[in-house]
Amino acid sequence: MGKQKKSNVKGKKQRKPSKSTKKADYYQNGKKNKRECPKCGIAVFMAEHKNRYHCGKCGFTEFKQQ
Ligand SMILES: [Zn+2]
Repeated sequence: MGKQKKSNVKGKKQRKPSKSTKKADYYQNGKKNKRECPKCGIAVFMAEHKNRYHCGKCGFTEFKQQ
């Protein structure tokens, strides 16, 4: 009886605990930089991206000026 079992053992299992989310920080900065949509008006905030703001309501996109 020659049954061969392939042992596919990967030695290391590493899990990094991701504790790098600072919500408080995010909100504080977010509030400061939050931008209202010029089309939708007050209280409609645009989502901030790397180089632009985007309104999820009307789809308006405004690029950041640096
Ligand atoms: Zn809008």
